[in-house]
Amino acid sequence: MPVELLGKSAEELRALLVSLGEPAYRGPQIYRALYTERRFDFDAMTNLPAALRSRLAEETRVTLPRIVRQFPSVDGSIRYLLSIGGEDVKPTQIEAVFMPKEGRQTICISTQAGCAVDCHFCLTAQLGLIRNLTAGEIVGQVLVALEENRDHLAPQTNVVLMGQGEPLLNYDATMAAVRILLDPRGVALAPRHVTLSTSGIVPGIERLGQEKIRPGLAISLNASNDEQRNALMPINRKYPLAVLLDACRRYPLRPREYFTMEYVLLGGVNDSPEDARRVVRLLSHFRAKVNLIPWNPGNLPYRAPTPESIEAFKSILLEKGVPAFVRYSRGQDVFAACGQLALIETVSPFVALQ
Ligand code: SF4
Repeated sequence: MPVELLGKSAEELRALLVSLGEPAYRGPQIYRALYTERRFDFDAMTNLPAALRSRLAEETRVTLPRIVRQFPSVDGSIRYLLSIGGEDVKPTQIEAVFMPKEGRQTICISTQAGCAVDCHFCLTAQLGLIRNLTAGEIVGQVLVALEENRDHLAPQTNVVLMGQGEPLLNYDATMAAVRILLDPRGVALAPRHVTLSTSGIVPGIERLGQEKIRPGLAISLNASNDEQRNALMPINRKYPLAVLLDACRRYPLRPREYFTMEYVLLGGVNDSPEDARRVVRLLSHFRAKVNLIPWNPGNLPYRAPTPESIEAFKSILLEKGVPAFVRYSRGQDVFAACGQLALIETVSPFVALQ
């Protein structure tokens, strides 16, 4: 079986090349070709001798996620339904989104196929966990999105690990991919431009805090007290707010680094002025900004917050000195909620695309 190269670090490639009896420095050359130059065909790796290229073509492979369908939105974003696996691993589908904006693009990627965390407002939860992605499948989503949009890329690329899956429950593969993304000799993204979003897996947060190279951390908060969070995110029974926020308090934020708290506003559920005041109290001692994400009505039994409740919630936070921003999901016309595409394809192939 050919050895998969995508997802390997420079050191792993170096060791692989030595094991093949080739000079060690060929490893970093392949690393650069894959991640910096995005050359995935051995014929295009012209920095390597022809004999090595044909040997690599026989004994190794580079497998990018395959685009099954593209869903371009009127707002310019493109949602990709991707297939991973194949020859030796059962194929499965995941999602990634490319969102262009003035001066930059943001790419949202998945770290697992499906998810076991069971947040009640999330369609991915209905898939259950299918499997963890490999480092190559995670970094491959960024490479595919960049390649597909090669002709009109802005200078800055942001990556958010907010697609399918809980990144901290697939820690090793996620961090192996993040290291390649942040490596100046790899994809070369700035650490402040990569954000990992977690539902609040406390041991994972503690482990992430020990990493020398790590992305920004976003916490999916979504509730102002335990009762509410237990009802929306059962993971809160395992890691209640006090435990979660204590882990955040101990997290070694760097100068100018802050937490992003994501708060999906669900009409009549967690969007009252009392909720906003409780959020202020929860976050009073944190370097944190809050992203308020108004719920998009869809297949789940929640309703959108009113424009007045969004504004009132935001004002209460701002008055008390908590930076707050309202973020509308992009690509709403092409199934913006994470998990939506895979769910449509996997569970209900008859839902009409509108
Ligand atoms: S919101 Fe994230 S962690 Fe929660 S079920 Fe969905 S994919 Fe999993």
